[in-house]
Amino acid sequence: MITYHTFAERCDALLEKVAKACTACGRAPDSVKVLAVTKTHPAEAAEYAVRYGLYGAGENRVQEAIPKIESSPDAIRWELIGHLQSNKAKLAAQHFDRIQSVDSEKLLKKLNTAADSLGKQLPILLEVNAGDDPAKFGVSCEDTPRLLEAALECSSLRVEGLMTIAPLSSDKSISKISFERLSALRDTLEGTFSVELPELSMGMTGDFEAAIQAGSTLIRVGTYLYGERPPI
Ligand SMILES: *Cc1c(COP(=O)(O)O)cnc(C)c1O
Repeated sequence: MITYHTFAERCDALLEKVAKACTACGRAPDSVKVLAVTKTHPAEAAEYAVRYGLYGAGENRVQEAIPKIESSPDAIRWELIGHLQSNKAKLAAQHFDRIQSVDSEKLLKKLNTAADSLGKQLPILLEVNAGDDPAKFGVSCEDTPRLLEAALECSSLRVEGLMTIAPLSSDKSISKISFERLSALRDTLEGTFSVELPELSMGMTGDFEAAIQAGSTLIRVGTYLYGERPPI
């Protein structure tokens, strides 16, 4: 594990790049939050993020995250960014502050029931496969209105926006198009359903600048901050 000092230097550099990307497209630098992606790293990684003042920590597996969440100070905000199987919906609703990876009606129902029984309003994002990538989870752009409609009927869930993971490609125009599609989809949905969907979670180590340009409000960054992850 890297030292806090190294981590803080990387955060400084990252925030500088974020500010530059914001300025380049006329956005306020504080309009983009950074979610530190701590998967495969010890709980300390999330503590670093909070100590520096980043927005929170992102994990992609419920099982891996729970011991970290339980051993960490309450001040850390945890978000689930990886695929969630509906049989783990209850555990996820219990431990996470927000679930970004909601992509089916079945999962919506399970999360709603779980949040209801926990007596909480659970914030969620809908994960959209905006790049039509067969290797990715997420609802298609075409099916997102139907999923949003179902989500708005879930009284214990609060839909705060959309999330996407761009296809992995050396062609930068592919991620750019995915981000622009997500942003346009959000605008359309806000009009159609008369709701506000302020959060656009998009952009990672390799593509956060393009995501910011397309309107990202939350970038999810792991490798840039903590270094390469061991292969799983
Ligand atoms: C791992 C992961 C990230 C972070 O990716 P990096 O390239 O390491 O910044 C972001 N989002 C999701 C959904 C992830 O699973």
